[in-house]
Amino acid sequence: MPAEVLQTSTAVEVRDLEFMYGDALALKGVSMEIERNQVTALIGPSGCGKSTLLRCMNRMNDDIPNARVTRGSISIEGMDIHGLSVDLVELRRRVGMVFQKSNPFPRSIRDNVSYGPRIFGVERAGLDDIVERALTQAALWDEVKDRLDCHAYELSEGQQQRLCIARSLALEPEIILMDEPCSALDPIAAARVEELILQLKNDYTLLVVTHNMQQASRISQYTGFLYMGELEEFDLTSTIFTQPANRRTEDYITGRFG
Ligand code: ADP
Repeated sequence: MPAEVLQTSTAVEVRDLEFMYGDALALKGVSMEIERNQVTALIGPSGCGKSTLLRCMNRMNDDIPNARVTRGSISIEGMDIHGLSVDLVELRRRVGMVFQKSNPFPRSIRDNVSYGPRIFGVERAGLDDIVERALTQAALWDEVKDRLDCHAYELSEGQQQRLCIARSLALEPEIILMDEPCSALDPIAAARVEELILQLKNDYTLLVVTHNMQQASRISQYTGFLYMGELEEFDLTSTIFTQPANRRTEDYITGRFG
C-alpha cells in the first residue's frame, strides 16, 4: 500500500445526495466518505454548493423554506440522519458548526461555553470542568482563565472564533463543520485557528469549507472539489494538489478560475 494512503475509517457517508432550493438544483448526486479523525476540505468556486453540502450534514438547511433533499442519503456513524427517529437537537449536538463570522452570545465567556451543556441538563457543579476542558481544547484557556466572567465581545475577533469553537466542543460533538472559519480573521488569528484545527483532528472529525487553497493544503488530509453542484473530484489532499485527475480541478487550484 502506498505510504500516503491513510489508515482510517468512515465517519460520514454521503450517497447520491441531491438538494434543491425551490426549483434550483444545488447538489447533483454527491457521494463521498468522510474519514474519522481527519480534516476534509471542501473547495470550489463561489456558488458551487460547498456550504449547502456542509449544512446538510446537521440538517441546518431544514430551516430554509422550500429547501430540501430530493434524493440520496447521509449516514453519520451508520445512522441515517433523515430517519424518522432522528432528534434534530441531538444531531446538532453530535455535529457541531462553526461559521465564518464568529457569533458568540451576548453573554460572558463562561456562559457562552456552559450554555449548551446546561440546556442538555448538566448540573451546575459539573459546568466549571466542562468550561475549562472546552476552552483548553480550543487553545483559549490560558488567555481567558482569569476573566471568565468578562463579556465575550471584549475578546479579539480571533479569540471570539476560538470561543465559538469551544462552545461547540463543550457539547462533545463527534463531527465539527466549519464554514470558512478563518476568512474573517487577520493572518495571525487565522494561523492560530489553523493550528487548532490540526490539533482537533486527534479527537474529532472535521469538515472545513475554504476558498483558500494554501489553507486547504495545510490543514486537510482529504479534499473534495465541487463544481456547479457536483463533486468533481475527491481524494487525498496531496493528490488533489499535485496530481489532480480532473482538468477542471487543476484549473481551479492553479487559479485559472474561481
Ligand atoms: P458555496 O458555498 O459554494 O458558495 P452555496 O452552497 O452557498 O455555494 O450555494 C449553492 C447554490 O445554491 C448557489 O446557486 C446559491 O445561490 C444557492 N443557494 C444557497 N443558499 C440559498 C438559499 N437560502 N436560497 C436559495 N438558493 C440558495
